[in-house]
Amino acid sequence: MEVALVTVGDEILSGETTNTNAAWLGQRLRESGVSVERMTVVPDRIADIARVVNEYQAAYDAVIVTGGLGPTPDDVTMQGVAAAYGTELEADAAVSEWLESEKGYSNDDLAPETTHIPERATMLKNPEGVAPGCVIDNTYVLPGVPAEMQGMFDQVADDFSGDPWYVETVCTPEPESHLLDRITEVQKQYDVTVGSYPGKNVRLRIEGTDPDIVEDAASWLRERVDLTQA
Ligand code: ATP
Ligand code: MG
Repeated sequence: MEVALVTVGDEILSGETTNTNAAWLGQRLRESGVSVERMTVVPDRIADIARVVNEYQAAYDAVIVTGGLGPTPDDVTMQGVAAAYGTELEADAAVSEWLESEKGYSNDDLAPETTHIPERATMLKNPEGVAPGCVIDNTYVLPGVPAEMQGMFDQVADDFSGDPWYVETVCTPEPESHLLDRITEVQKQYDVTVGSYPGKNVRLRIEGTDPDIVEDAASWLRERVDLTQA
């Protein structure tokens, strides 16, 4: 399963907020065997949100959009997602019912926009807050506040699955440039991908879908690189 993540927020683009939501989702999805193919940050602008969501919903199995669900005028994610699908926002009876029965609001207390989600969408409850999320076709719309985003993702986590990945790590003090021949060769001989992450030692991350092949590839490398730790 291939998924794209879209993070919405001017404050992410300006560097004021670190995009921990994308990192958290990336890890959770990877652990479930899902391949995350894109992480895109877009500003709080309807047309920009609509353009990437429209492109990604056609290109990937699912799209997860986070941020910009609140009732303030700078929160335009629902409008962007509605535009991506050529629909309008509309008051959703299930949202009103949830806000009244579980959050203790009466309909008169609420700004009308609070209950609006795109036509055809199914609402997702927010276990930590009052802004609902939604699912429309293969697009999941979640809040920006990390605890709210995580609580809502947990409700739909079962929709995201794929072949499990197996990982082995080999660390070596050899410089990356010296390792190129062996990194190339191991990928030729075994059905694995090898990531190389320099630091005090170089960390070689061997990934694949067959645990025996990953293990064999790691052994092949361990026999051929300097394993003395720096
Ligand atoms: P609210 O209803 O509180 O307005 P929201 O869904 O509209 O929630 P945002 O307005 O986008 O979410 O963000 C609210 C707060 O959540 C931000 O100020 C920031 O602290 C945090 N936040 C938003 N996006 C991210 C992100 N991608 N990674 C980490 N934190 C984030
Ligand atoms: Mg907001």
